[in-house]
Amino acid sequence: MTRKVKLVFLLLLAACAAFLPQSEAQKKTADSPAQKIDDAALKKADARSGDWITHGRDYAETRFSPLKQINDANASELGLAWSFNTDTSRGLEATPIIVDGVMYTTGSWSIVFALDARTGKQLWKWDPQVPHSYGARACCDAVNRGVAVYKGKVYVGTLDGRLVALHAETGQLIWEVVTVDQAKQYTITGAPRVVKGKVIIGNGGGEYGMRGYVSAYDAANGKLAWRFFTVPGDPKEEVPAVMKPAMDKAAKTWTGEWWKLGGGGTVWDSLAYDPELDLLYVGTGNGSPWNQNVRSPGGGDNLYLSSILAIKPDTGALVWHYQTTPGDMWDFTATQHMILADLTINGQRRKTLMQAPKNGFFYVLDRATGELISAEAYVSVTWAKGVDKKTGRPIESPEHRYKDKTVVMQPGPLGGHNWQPMSFNPNTGLVYIPAQETGFAYGQERDFKYKDRGWNIGVDFALVKDMPAAIPTGHLLAWDPVAQKERWRVPYVVMWNGGTLTTAGNLVFQGTADGRFVVYSADKGAKLWQVNVGTGIIASPVTYEIDGIQYVSVMAGWGGAFALTGGSIGLPATPGRLLTFALNGKGQLEMFAAKPPKPPEPIELTASAEMIAKGGDLFAQYCAVCHGIAALGGGGVLPDLKYSSPATFNSFQKIVLDGALLGEGMPSFKQSLQAADVEAIRAFVISQRNGLTVKK
Ligand code: CA
Repeated sequence: MTRKVKLVFLLLLAACAAFLPQSEAQKKTADSPAQKIDDAALKKADARSGDWITHGRDYAETRFSPLKQINDANASELGLAWSFNTDTSRGLEATPIIVDGVMYTTGSWSIVFALDARTGKQLWKWDPQVPHSYGARACCDAVNRGVAVYKGKVYVGTLDGRLVALHAETGQLIWEVVTVDQAKQYTITGAPRVVKGKVIIGNGGGEYGMRGYVSAYDAANGKLAWRFFTVPGDPKEEVPAVMKPAMDKAAKTWTGEWWKLGGGGTVWDSLAYDPELDLLYVGTGNGSPWNQNVRSPGGGDNLYLSSILAIKPDTGALVWHYQTTPGDMWDFTATQHMILADLTINGQRRKTLMQAPKNGFFYVLDRATGELISAEAYVSVTWAKGVDKKTGRPIESPEHRYKDKTVVMQPGPLGGHNWQPMSFNPNTGLVYIPAQETGFAYGQERDFKYKDRGWNIGVDFALVKDMPAAIPTGHLLAWDPVAQKERWRVPYVVMWNGGTLTTAGNLVFQGTADGRFVVYSADKGAKLWQVNVGTGIIASPVTYEIDGIQYVSVMAGWGGAFALTGGSIGLPATPGRLLTFALNGKGQLEMFAAKPPKPPEPIELTASAEMIAKGGDLFAQYCAVCHGIAALGGGGVLPDLKYSSPATFNSFQKIVLDGALLGEGMPSFKQSLQAADVEAIRAFVISQRNGLTVKK
């Protein structure tokens, strides 16, 4: 090739490259506002008053907005600005991200939406096509808690364990990596965070016998940078040098052959970051199986279950840990939302980390060292008398380590507070917790055997019938973290209410399980405004400002763990929606009428009373966690089996044992149940159905 020909060739190549679709997409990314969300922007996320650029609004995860156009004097003038239908019937848990007028959010099944934040007009949609069979390994619904935005890309973790990077402008796929062994029962429901060019993501599976870990991927190309396992593995396994001191320490606190059962400690939700200390905070989940008598039969603290970990984001090295529930056996996760705030305690300015984990104690830690500053019960707690300030350990009542007898205690597995985020208002000094009063009857599952498919908790769910008949309730709790005292509360008739948002307008926003979106004054808890939205809200609201108008948005779609297990609230089936409010909003919210199910035709039943009773026990153990407690009318998210068609009752064995409906998320129970067991369950469900029939 002569020099001239070479030059022409290169020019041609350059000209062609300009028209390649990839270059066009790259150019668009370079111009997009999302491109400007870099490390400097994320560090000062709280300063971008009109935006909401990371999950908890800032790295400290305060969920506090300085906006005050909507305030305690005018909140009663709120109205609907726009609504967006996500076209799904499962739970909505996402916190939308807003960057310069564009909103990025997720619906059920990890579907990502980009919307015009002024109007709700869809800009693009990306469906990861998660096989619905993954619903069978999602303990707590096919939910997703949202995306991260960084340098022109949108990141999402999908239910089937992928981490995905999309073009913020177009929704085009840039890269995706599988972050889990998809042959095992892992899922992702949590929102990623981006710290120093790395996307941080964990996963769920704590009810299925999985081993927890958190991973960091290069935000540019999806290359794995590090992975920190939260519990030790097979002692024969090689551990990277940077993780070894932490893993060696943890291994000494386990007994038996825990690694064959998973161990747990899954990192399924909360993360926070302090740029000054350069520490990434990670909340870890429950023991897996729950029952320590089968998981680690000789006892031990089982590090790092139910813990808060401080990790160096560059390397994954552990700096400190604080374990809220040593040797957990009650599903007491410490995956609840963590908030970083500087508080004056005993005259000293302290860099604190606050958490209200499931176990019922509100913790204030020194976030530089992990030292316990204070811990007090924020809901009814019967499993421990308090937290020892010297050792940082709960003062446990030993009888609660159930083995040979059932133990009824508070809180239960749904926790004094679950994943629904709390918020912190620096003006009032209060933390707003979606709190709940729950209990549970814990007892050991006889002849526990590890199953490749299905739950592995080692606890007999059928014992729930031994619980006192109190209905679990919820309340919005305004907690003073310095005094460790309640300042005010708003009681709710039912638990499982939404996460909270607080603003400089002296406001707290929260959706409720009974289908309302409510605004309270942040200082006193006075109800200022509410709207009926027709479905239970579990997600957290966000607020943002465009062209001088402040908006408040919340995703409304009933679902999640409590809804699956029987938290029927009697509201009509309403499609999932994203609702946005503003002062003097004039939009009309479409409401859906409740259709009471027609009493089904009875089905002939010849089973003995004994068989029906056995079926009832098996139903409680294996079916109720998804289909709800039949006697209470099902959960309202997945089918109430009483209303199944006669054809379904005819195919019961095929569905339950052979996995005939696996594609719809119904797993096979071949490893747990025999044909006679399935017959008993079928008889029990038919007995419930026939009991419903109105006699003429
Ligand atoms: Ca759990």
